Formats: sequence, structure tokens, C-alpha cells
Amino acid sequence: MDFEFSDEEKIFQENLRDYFSKSLRPRIREIDEKGIPKDFILDASRIGLWSLTFSEDVGGQHASFTLASIAAEEIARADFTMATAVFFLLENSWGYILDKYGSEELRKEVLPKVASGENFLGIASTEPSGGSDVANLKTSAKKEGEKYVINGEKAYISGVMEAKEMGGGHLTLVRTGGKGHKGISMLYVPINSEGITVSKIENMGRMGISTGIIKYDNVRIDEKFLVGEENKGFYYAMDGFNHARVLVASACIGSAEAILEEGLKYIKEREAFGVKLKDLQSIAFEAAELYTKLEIARLLVYKSAWLLDHEEKFKDEIPKFSAMAKLIAPQTAFEVIKSVMIWFGAYGYTKDALIESGMRGLMSYLVGAEGALNIMKLIISREILK
Ligand SMILES: Cc1cc2nc3c(=O)[nH]c(=O)nc-3n(C[C@H](O)[C@H](O)[C@H](O)COP(=O)(O)OP(=O)(O)OC[C@H]3O[C@@H](n4cnc5c(N)ncnc54)[C@H](O)[C@@H]3O)c2cc1C
Repeated sequence: MDFEFSDEEKIFQENLRDYFSKSLRPRIREIDEKGIPKDFILDASRIGLWSLTFSEDVGGQHASFTLASIAAEEIARADFTMATAVFFLLENSWGYILDKYGSEELRKEVLPKVASGENFLGIASTEPSGGSDVANLKTSAKKEGEKYVINGEKAYISGVMEAKEMGGGHLTLVRTGGKGHKGISMLYVPINSEGITVSKIENMGRMGISTGIIKYDNVRIDEKFLVGEENKGFYYAMDGFNHARVLVASACIGSAEAILEEGLKYIKEREAFGVKLKDLQSIAFEAAELYTKLEIARLLVYKSAWLLDHEEKFKDEIPKFSAMAKLIAPQTAFEVIKSVMIWFGAYGYTKDALIESGMRGLMSYLVGAEGALNIMKLIISREILK
């Protein structure tokens, strides 16, 4: 057993920390108000950030999910609004799925432009009637000759405006067969296809990346946009969620680490009643607990990433571990951020302190993005009670 990063992983982490401390941290407020800067998206593509997990023939680095987790953690340490981490994890988990299951033609058409930061790729699963019960989704795709004709609606979909503005689309779950999970296919749907209308939803946090509604009114797309085989889309999506959840968890840990570091610095300096806050045992003990809980969550997250990198051997363990990571990391991170905000006193409640942007961003993962917490419990309990 080895709990140390390899030399390659350490150098990768150091380089990214340095890069993001200059390219992202000073721009948190700008990201929260105006979106992830286009110049950053293009610049980061030079270091292969958006395509770490893709194959080399489509512009990727063929990197491990351990490296992708390090990247997610480092991005969120710098931009703890979560927006940039969301952009990163969508490209790297759903791009990975398109790379893994998509045809040669589709991979080569879509992924190089995602890698270069020219196009956006997301996932469209949730519908207005619900997101947790994926197997019962309603959006339909009927085969007519060499086309699929899509009708229906997706809701709370990340990156709708980015896809419209930059170009790109979403891996879209549609019903092509009978009821239940065996009637679902995955199609890559370019967002600028005729018959699509998009509207933006105003969220409370991670405003640097949009969320919105996609309506499909007789949208005709070529059959080449089918990912893998018809009626296997549910399985591809679950594979994608297993990967995305680990990166989500890494990002939650990253944002909490950055905020805890700020908190520890603050309590070492701030005085009340003639002593430093750190010398008040109630605060010092709270810091000790938070630090410990964050380390526990981080260990679970990296074990989950490691399992993804050893998929052949541990494929039965992966759904449970990804769900455990997604269950524990956002909750631990929220606890950390809430306590640090309180240590900061009134200053913590201001926009200047920036902590509020982290709290708002993190809430998306408590509410349900990439799977609601009860659904994580459902997956874990199913696995351990078999
Ligand atoms: C910021 C943000 C971005 C998002 N981006 C995307 C995206 O890019 N693509 C996409 O497809 N979706 C996206 N989503 C949607 C997300 O996947 C859903 O919110 C999630 O799947 C839950 O679905 P729901 O919101 O419809 O809640 P519901 O499924 O209606 O669930 C409501 C509540 O009931 C609980 N619940 C449901 N079923 C059970 C059960 N069996 N047992 C116990 N409790 C249960 C849930 O835990 C939840 O608390 C995003 C959401 C947010 C907040």
C-alpha cells in the first residue's frame, strides 16, 4: 500500500497549483459575475486541461483519473465558486464516455474541438419531471430513415449557454425503446440543431457556468450521433456518473481545503478578549475536527479515483465508492466552509471575503447536481445489502 503521489503526480499538482493561483484565483469575482473567461478556456487547453482523460488520437492526454482528480482539486482550490471545476469535470468525464463508447467518426468529429477549448460538451439527462429516476425519462427519439427525431425537454442542464456561444452540445439521454432503463439511448445533440430552444435558469451559485432548459421540437439529427449501441445509453450514463462523481468530490475537497487554509490563517491572527482565536479551545478543537474530516473525505476520494484507474479489477466496487465519495465530500466541504465563515465573523458574510461564493457553489452538489445525496445512499445501501 502506498499513500504517496508518484513523482509525476506531484509535479503535475505543483505546476497546476502555481498556474491556477495566477490564472484563476485573482479572477474569482469576475468568474462568478461574468462567467469563465474565454481567454482562460483557450489558455488552459494548451496544457490539455479539458481533455486529460481522452485518447491521444482525439487531442487528449490519456491521463489517469487520479491525475484528473488532482486537477479538479487544484482548480477548485483556486476558483472555489466551483464554476471552473464544473466545466473541467463535465469535459473530462463525459468526453471520456464519448471517447470510450462513441464511433470513430463521432469521437473524431466532437472531441478534438472540446480538447482545444473551441466547443463545449455536457450531459443532458434531467427532465422537468425529475432527475433521480433516470430510467423513467420521457424525451423521445424516433428513428426515421437515417435520422433520429427528438421531442421533449431537459432541465437544469449545465453549460447550455456555453454550448450555444462556443458551439458544442450534450450527450443526451432519450427514449428509443420500451419502458425503463433498457429503452434509453445516448445521442450527441449539437445545441445549434434546428428545433432546439434554450433558456437560462438563474441559480444561486456557481454562476460562472450556465444552467438551463433545452426544448426539442422535432429535432432531426443524423444517426451518426448515436453513442455506442441503441438502448444501451443508461449503462453509458451510469459509467459517466461514476467518473463524474469522483471529480465532483475532488472539487468539493479542493474548495474546502482552500477555505480552511484561509480560516486557519485567520484564527492565528485575529484576537478576541485579548487572545488569538486559535488559543480558544472551542475554535482550536473545531479546526482539528474539520481538518480530520476533510482528510478522511480526501482519502475516500483518492481511493475512488484509484479504483477508476483499475476498472478491470474493481468494476464491482466502483459504483459504491463513487457514490460514497459524492455523498461525503460535499457535506464535509459544506461543514468546513460554514465554520470558517463563522470564524471570520461579520467579514465572513461579506462579498469581499469570497467564502460566500464557495458556499453557494457547493450547494449545487448538496442539492443534486451529478446525483442527489439520497440517490448516493440508495446506490451504497443496494450494494452493501445485496
Ligand atoms: C446546478 C445544477 C446543475 C445541474 N446540471 C445538470 C446537467 O448538466 N445535466 C443533467 O442532466 N442534470 C443536471 N442537474 C440536475 C441534477 O442531476 C438533478 O438535480 C438531480 O439528478 C436530482 O433530480 P431533481 O432535481 O429532479 O430531484 P428529484 O429527482 O425530484 O428529487 C427530489 C428530492 O427527492 C429525493 N429523492 C428522489 N428519489 C428518492 C428515493 N428513491 N429515495 C429517497 N429520496 C429520493 C432526492 O434526494 C431529492 O432530495 C443539475 C442540477 C443542479 C442543481
